[in-house]
Amino acid sequence: MGKIAIIGGGASGMACAVLLARRGQEVTVLERGERLGRKLSATGNGQGNVTNTDMGAEHYFSDDNEKVARLLARFGSGETVRFLESMGGIFLPDGRGRVYPAGRQASAVTDLMRFELARLGVRTLFHAQVGSLSFDRDFFLTYEGGQLHADAVILAAGGRAAPNYGTDGSAYALAQGFGHTVTPCSPVLVQLKCDPASVRGLKGIRADAALSVIRRGETIFGCRGDVLFTESGVSGDAVFRASSYAQAGDELKIDFLPDVPAERLFEVLKDGGENCLLCVVNNGLGRTLFRLAEGEKEKLAALVKGFPLTVTGTLGYAYAQVTRGGIPLAETDDNLMSRLQKGLYFTGEILNVDGECGGYNLQWALTSAYVATEGVLS
Ligand SMILES: Cc1cc2nc3c(=O)[nH]c(=O)nc-3n(C[C@H](O)[C@H](O)[C@H](O)COP(=O)(O)OP(=O)(O)OC[C@H]3O[C@@H](n4cnc5c(N)ncnc54)[C@H](O)[C@@H]3O)c2cc1C
Repeated sequence: MGKIAIIGGGASGMACAVLLARRGQEVTVLERGERLGRKLSATGNGQGNVTNTDMGAEHYFSDDNEKVARLLARFGSGETVRFLESMGGIFLPDGRGRVYPAGRQASAVTDLMRFELARLGVRTLFHAQVGSLSFDRDFFLTYEGGQLHADAVILAAGGRAAPNYGTDGSAYALAQGFGHTVTPCSPVLVQLKCDPASVRGLKGIRADAALSVIRRGETIFGCRGDVLFTESGVSGDAVFRASSYAQAGDELKIDFLPDVPAERLFEVLKDGGENCLLCVVNNGLGRTLFRLAEGEKEKLAALVKGFPLTVTGTLGYAYAQVTRGGIPLAETDDNLMSRLQKGLYFTGEILNVDGECGGYNLQWALTSAYVATEGVLS
């Protein structure tokens, strides 16, 4: 393969560049921002949750999960750890299977890749937003301040979540120019909005709770984790996980005492007096629940074991970690090459694949990078 252009210097674009340059390819990375891996450096609350030991297609949403399974079988969480450790560092799972760099710094993961790219002498252009991409014998790209010919192009420009890291969805147009479609998109791994009146008095309270998403009376998702009340709804790890499933109109049920059976709680509540929730739940939470229960012990127990909220929406792309939707997998071959334009590959979040919270999205960024580069090299 001759010259390869990679559009986007995020997690998947950097991984593609490393994999190709190690195989002696002539690679140029075009990044619209002033740095590589800006989003990667912010992942996992700054700690960089790069993958998960519990890996499988059931943790993903796409138009073809069988294909996701096949691609994960080629490059899964073990391969991700080996790939990262081939550049340096130690990567370890926590008690929940979430894998982080031992130093717990996402920016250090970016640095590992950055130093490797420098060592390999990969050409990187900054402030190089690609505005047009066409094909006539070879690919022709124009970007702010220049133009470039390439024999293969990897479009690794991300989705539209978290636009402050350079991803506003404008890169979809580069694929659409070749006839590709983009499925309807929505923000996921994001705070859920509820009627502000239903969370009044709870702002700032955090609880380790069991959270269920209920649609038309049926529980469609449940998980255990942090729930944080905000001005307009709920956030926290459990809510981010639930946001992959929830939509406006769904009901959330929060069990603030998941380890305590309802009967035990009921005994502890005794006469249901004002202080009966002391050392049962957070004091501020207890006061609000007591007020809402209007002194009724049964009502109070029900609120502790199943606090109801109705989802009215999400906080939107500006606050979301990931984009649901994108270029359908169906429009790509088994190496993620476009079925409409030979030599054009897609990796990462620009594709119609998103994973649950817990390292699944960076895994997809790296899985797709590996697969696409194998395609380029074949
Ligand atoms: C706050 C936050 C925390 C997260 N935490 C985690 C986590 O812990 N674990 C996890 O698995 N996932 C996490 N994610 C999601 C994960 O970071 C993304 O899914 C992943 O970075 C996507 O990789 P990508 O290479 O496809 O896109 P990105 O990393 O978004 O990179 C795309 C790059 O393309 C550039 N670009 C866009 N358009 C153009 C253009 N026209 N020309 C040139 N360059 C362009 C952008 O500037 C950007 O640098 C988090 C996301 C956020 C926002």
